Amino acid sequence: MTTPQPIDVVGAGVIGAAVAWQAARRGHQVRLYDPLLAHGAAQTGASFVAGGMLAPYSELVPGDEDLLALGHASLELWPGFAADLEEATGTDVVTGRGTLVVGADGADVAELGRLTERLAALGHGRAEHLDRAGVRERAPMLARGLRGGLWLSDESAVGNRTLLSALRRAATEAGAEAIPASWPGQTPGRTTVIAAGHAAGQVLPAPATARVRPVKGEILRLRRRSSSPAPPALTVRAHIHGRSVYLVPRPDGIVVGATMYEHGEDRDVTVAGVRDLLADAETVFPGVTDYALVDAAAGLRPMTDDNLPLIGAIDPRTVLACGHGRGGVLLTPLTVAAVLAALEGTSLPAAAPADPRRFS
Ligand SMILES: Cc1cc2nc3c(=O)[nH]c(=O)nc-3n(C[C@H](O)[C@H](O)[C@H](O)COP(=O)(O)OP(=O)(O)OC[C@H]3O[C@@H](n4cnc5c(N)ncnc54)[C@H](O)[C@@H]3O)c2cc1C
Repeated sequence: MTTPQPIDVVGAGVIGAAVAWQAARRGHQVRLYDPLLAHGAAQTGASFVAGGMLAPYSELVPGDEDLLALGHASLELWPGFAADLEEATGTDVVTGRGTLVVGADGADVAELGRLTERLAALGHGRAEHLDRAGVRERAPMLARGLRGGLWLSDESAVGNRTLLSALRRAATEAGAEAIPASWPGQTPGRTTVIAAGHAAGQVLPAPATARVRPVKGEILRLRRRSSSPAPPALTVRAHIHGRSVYLVPRPDGIVVGATMYEHGEDRDVTVAGVRDLLADAETVFPGVTDYALVDAAAGLRPMTDDNLPLIGAIDPRTVLACGHGRGGVLLTPLTVAAVLAALEGTSLPAAAPADPRRFS
């Protein structure tokens, strides 16, 4: 049985909006603060810019095994979370199922083999190896020269912009008060959830939030024209000349991402970023050249020193839900469950690696 509490949620990106929605649904009295709530379609938060992949397995890099476990746990919560959101708002946010990771040369294909071995050793993610013909069968529109691939059927993708607006709508319809302003600071008697993305350390200075920094990423949105070949209906990831690129399906085209730089709060989209993304996308999917380039954006991923998010209470009145790095969309359902547990004074075992007290 939930004990209703007055709660301030700071930040209405996917994390804050989802927390506000689910907390309001459980009867908490929620105020959701974000100056961007006044900006209509002119959003700049990472949640608006992102690619929307739910892809813990294809993102795995050595050393990030705890992050994989968090992503795996959250991916399992996604179907129920998406169904609840669809019931609340009538919006289906899922845009693609499965990830095809492709390799252009022998070294890329060998790397796919190592990824399969790492996933198998950790017991996560079903991975099916594909030869050249297998890749063509799954995605015949891709370049003929691709040497092989890996099919990860458990991964999927959502339309992050649709998700963001659906979550904000669900939050207010569930009773949360949306306040289009910066959070004024801690109010006696209220619990605060810090979901301010890369700005967490500025909003609430603390040993854990001091570990959050912005990592820039540029991303493109391409619309299919009547003359354009159909896009793949699945997420495609590739390594091209040492750079990675991904193509994420959308109802009207594809999202191509993403660059990654340590440039502080720089949000400019550079010529080099757009050039590299388009060149790599064309190498994988030549038909992309006929698409319309409709949006180029840069966002700031809220990265921590150990690539793990900060989710949980740091004192009886403050809960952190920030530092989600490259995977905040994926990690949204798990974060909500862990924050709700923290509001109840308990903890969610699956979220233990994200405990912010590891930095205190
Ligand atoms: C190019 C790119 C591609 C990505 N692709 C993926 C992907 O495919 N899959 C995935 O899972 N993740 C992806 N990510 C990561 C994901 O976008 C982030 O991890 C996630 O959006 C973080 O959500 P958030 O709500 O914490 O932060 P944000 O979306 O940044 O929201 C934080 C909010 O806090 C508000 N705020 C700040 N200060 C205050 C204050 N003082 N008072 C009130 N509000 C305040 C801001 O205005 C902002 O709206 C990508 C990120 C980038 C940049």
